[in-house]
Amino acid sequence: MKRKIALVGIGKIAIDQHVPALAASPDWELAATVSRSGRVDGVKAYSDFGLMLAENPDIGTVSLCMPPVPRYDYAHAALMAGRHVMLEKPPGASLAEVYALEKLAEAKGLSLFATWHSRMAHAVAPAKAWLKDTTITRAHITWREDVRKWHPGQDWVFQAGGMGVFDPGINALSILTEILPQPVHMRGAVLTFPSNCQTPIAAKLAFSGNVSADFDWRQEGPQTWDILVETPKGRLDLRMGGNVLEIDGKLHAGENSIMGEYPALYARMAQLVATRARDVDLAPMIHVADALTLGVRQEAEAFHL
Ligand code: NAP
Repeated sequence: MKRKIALVGIGKIAIDQHVPALAASPDWELAATVSRSGRVDGVKAYSDFGLMLAENPDIGTVSLCMPPVPRYDYAHAALMAGRHVMLEKPPGASLAEVYALEKLAEAKGLSLFATWHSRMAHAVAPAKAWLKDTTITRAHITWREDVRKWHPGQDWVFQAGGMGVFDPGINALSILTEILPQPVHMRGAVLTFPSNCQTPIAAKLAFSGNVSADFDWRQEGPQTWDILVETPKGRLDLRMGGNVLEIDGKLHAGENSIMGEYPALYARMAQLVATRARDVDLAPMIHVADALTLGVRQEAEAFHL
């Protein structure tokens, strides 16, 4: 029998990915939504989260799709009400609040899943397997996209806690921290802030182990989500946000589509709930926090979405 789930924060990612993934899921029934303005045809809609929790004791799981800053209060309320919780990425606005949620979920014997959709991309597992037991001589991430295309009108990305270019960049870091055989740490960063924004629009990162990253939200035309890794046994290129893998320039694994990521997340959430387990890996977010701690600040001209 399918488990009932509520989707909270019906915006771009909920409509683009969560709703289709749930509609096709063998594990889940979308039983309610909570949003001030969004709704899903044929699904009971609430604007008050507390009311949804109180009126639907049979909905055992909530999936939170709003931006990171407001997410903690919803996650805390859901856990206090005995619900399992799935968090969009990044899992919160601060590391400490996610640690607190993990402790609360553990104390209550509930599942908490800090999702990283890019880790579910088609070629990430094959890339990890190919790099196992290998020495990395160099790695470089190029993550360049057009913020106006992917976040139309979403002012929160440039407000405090919105993470700016780290909102997509953390996807690259979620892949990096999954595939590298050894962890790396931040050694320095250059962050570019538009004069009217609280978060960076571009970042250049230098990690230990000859690993670097170039994130930029001002790229028009072709978009780039690539990770290059050089090793003594050859060169690995993960392209299309982790969905396509090339080894020494030849296609090795993957599929040029992002549509497998959210179905895989919901299948994983079903496994976690079945065993009341938790999956909370904050490694990608630690790198973002370290970049914001160590980063040298550059100012750029004002930017408007
Ligand atoms: P969005 O469309 O701007 O926001 C999603 C929904 O959250 C909004 O429609 C809004 O619904 C609700 N919301 C916004 N502010 C809120 C607040 N202060 N309190 C309660 N609810 C609030 O953003 P999104 O693009 O879907 O991104 C949401 C999350 O998904 C982010 O963490 C992002 O990193 C992640 N994500 C986004 C994408 C993408 O392509 N955009 C891809 C993967 C992951 P109501 O106003 O109707 O309540």
